[in-house]
Amino acid sequence: MKNISVYKFENSSFKTEDDVKRWATYFGSFGLFLFSLLFFIEAKADTFADVATKQGFGNRVEELRTFSKLEGYSTRETNPKDKYNGPIIDVLHHTHAYWGQLRKFLRKKGRNKPLIDSENMIQMTKELGVIHSITSEPPRIKGLYGDPIKFSKKYKSFSALCSPHFVAYEHRGKFDKAINLLKQIELNLKAGNCIGIGEVGVQHYNKSEKYYHLSNDKHKQKDISIPLDNVFLHKALKLSDKYKVPILIHLEPRHSVRNIDNVEEVKKWYKDICKRYINSKIVLVHNGMFEPNHLADLFETCPNVYSSFKIMRPSWTYYWKFNDLHIVNNMEPLFAERWATLLEKYPDRMMLGSNIFLRKMKTAKTKNTYRKIINNVRLMVGSLDKEAQKKIMYDTPKKLFNLEL
Ligand SMILES: [Zn+2]
Repeated sequence: MKNISVYKFENSSFKTEDDVKRWATYFGSFGLFLFSLLFFIEAKADTFADVATKQGFGNRVEELRTFSKLEGYSTRETNPKDKYNGPIIDVLHHTHAYWGQLRKFLRKKGRNKPLIDSENMIQMTKELGVIHSITSEPPRIKGLYGDPIKFSKKYKSFSALCSPHFVAYEHRGKFDKAINLLKQIELNLKAGNCIGIGEVGVQHYNKSEKYYHLSNDKHKQKDISIPLDNVFLHKALKLSDKYKVPILIHLEPRHSVRNIDNVEEVKKWYKDICKRYINSKIVLVHNGMFEPNHLADLFETCPNVYSSFKIMRPSWTYYWKFNDLHIVNNMEPLFAERWATLLEKYPDRMMLGSNIFLRKMKTAKTKNTYRKIINNVRLMVGSLDKEAQKKIMYDTPKKLFNLEL
């Protein structure tokens, strides 16, 4: 049999030079096909599986996917050639100061200066086409660093939000300080020193708990909250109503590991305050941290409700912290289709709020984090319909914050 097939091969297949060429073309095409297939696999990279494997969960990838609340949604394809190249306004910066344990970190590294500081953000945002940024204090219990107002007075490409620190004062029972701060907020609004209030941490959980069973990282976030009917919170809402300025609210409606689900209660509250403070502009940061249908419900009910989105980077801990908070993408720079659809339907209500901190760029490995975020945002936004793109990235925040650019 062997001999016969060789015979056949030699005699019937390669009779002429043309036959040889034909075979060469055939094998050539096959090679091209293989190459394309490899490229296709590469393009369809499974970052979740890669990161999970790196974390030592390679054998549990599919099980963990089932466990996550972020999986199973289709994604919007992007194409680098369609990338959004227009101007950007980023409404959620925390870069006017170095938040977190900087001194401890620098001591460990034997340095006396951080790799990146607030001033560096001026050039970086400019290079990235981020025309304007709004910086604010993040939700905190203590440890106030820097002053967003002072920073924004120095640099025209930055504006500031008024301090949300009355939450911390309420939390610690320092009511006199809360009252004084609210008086100061009014003075600052009157003088135009700040263009809104935030980021108000109405409910901020230790989200790190969600990955303790999946990581050796024992980082702890603070539990920060203020009751929905709190007098200081309502005073701040009243000020945003009186001065017709945005108030940025961080409110986590769920914590799956603690079996907390306050979605209905929270929605009811938003619907109540949007009517009570009709001139206020209520901005739910990080897309409200619930499903797009809930956000759409609020947009339909409340003409004065808005939202900003941030994106996830390929990080194991980031993924698990936000797995039950319905962030707009997974580890890949692709919008979940359900979010792309919402963004296209409500481009007058949606904005970018990157949530960038200087400490997220503190090492040589992470110093380009903001560049990567903006690059990926441009890629993702480029997948939306053309008309929505510039509205979300520029027109809507410009109008909402009354920016003169
Ligand atoms: Zn936040």
